[in-house]
Amino acid sequence: MDFGMKNSPRVLDGVAIASAIKAEVAEEVKALSARGIVPGLAVVLVGHVPASEIYVRSKVKTCGELGIYSEMLTPPESVTTDEMLAIIAELNARPEIDGILVQLPLPKHVDTKRLLEAVSPEKDVDGFHPVNVGRLQSGQPALAPCTPAGIMEILRRSDLPVAGRNAVVVGRSDIVGKPAAMMLLNSSATVTICHSKTADLSRVTREADILVAAIGRPGFVTADMVKPGAILIDVGINRVTEEAEVKALFGADPARAATFAKRGSVVVGDIHPRAFEVSGAYTPVPGGVGALTIAMLMQNTVAAAKMRRGA
Ligand code: NAP
Repeated sequence: MDFGMKNSPRVLDGVAIASAIKAEVAEEVKALSARGIVPGLAVVLVGHVPASEIYVRSKVKTCGELGIYSEMLTPPESVTTDEMLAIIAELNARPEIDGILVQLPLPKHVDTKRLLEAVSPEKDVDGFHPVNVGRLQSGQPALAPCTPAGIMEILRRSDLPVAGRNAVVVGRSDIVGKPAAMMLLNSSATVTICHSKTADLSRVTREADILVAAIGRPGFVTADMVKPGAILIDVGINRVTEEAEVKALFGADPARAATFAKRGSVVVGDIHPRAFEVSGAYTPVPGGVGALTIAMLMQNTVAAAKMRRGA
């Protein structure tokens, strides 16, 4: 009999988890500073990409808040691969710099792969260097990519067990999908990775106890693709600028309508809001996975400082 009871999924609050991690990092920085070690992060931002400028500014600001030394290098859009390699070589050689982050995307004429491989693996706080990718795969301590590391922190700190559960990751990018799948596997989930060529995607996603969506398409994962009670991890950050699309996603939600009226756009994840309603727990967008990325970068910078300086 239906008593009209509604499913109340648990909201996994990325902002609160990020705050807890940042507070822990600040404590570690304090302890290191007392021993004369100030972790240092260098961020290289090429040209003027407004979204990248916003990200980099908040990374530098967070460093300041946590007591991490930071500096920003801003070569012009016209910088060559060789010039960038020289910048990286200099940062690799500087003892007070523990972490090097090259903000992506880079201009098309710059060889991104070559640059990322030029960063010393021990300073690779983005976890993109093949040495760190290999270390992650072989289960050794590694500087791991920040966004998937943030997903694992959300699961761990929310006491959501991973071992033995069916985890499905939709998306196979080097920065999110693949490392997320590897981390879930290292935590003993049974992992399936899906992508644009996956046949009968819904059949696979409906098997997921933990479903990670890293696709880049607003509201792509719909309620019928989700096993009731599943944990939904929404990595997507998509800006929707069409009012009709906002309505299709959020119905008459007054908060989203107000945001749209004010800004002319709404940020939406890869999972449809209706799908959250059938879940057991989910990460909201915004305020979920995205909130963790900078906190994990700070954690990686301190880990790099400790490993490299033998602290
Ligand atoms: P990406 O490199 O574009 O990869 C997207 C993946 O989705 C690809 O593997 C692609 O498959 C798959 N895909 C695309 N269409 C599909 C379909 N119809 N069915 C199944 N799979 C499909 O994107 P990304 O860099 O991983 O980012 C994914 C999302 O996460 C974006 O919204 C991005 O903004 C967001 N993001 C958030 C953070 C954060 O929270 N801090 C960080 C990074 C990214 P193929 O490989 O077959 O093409």
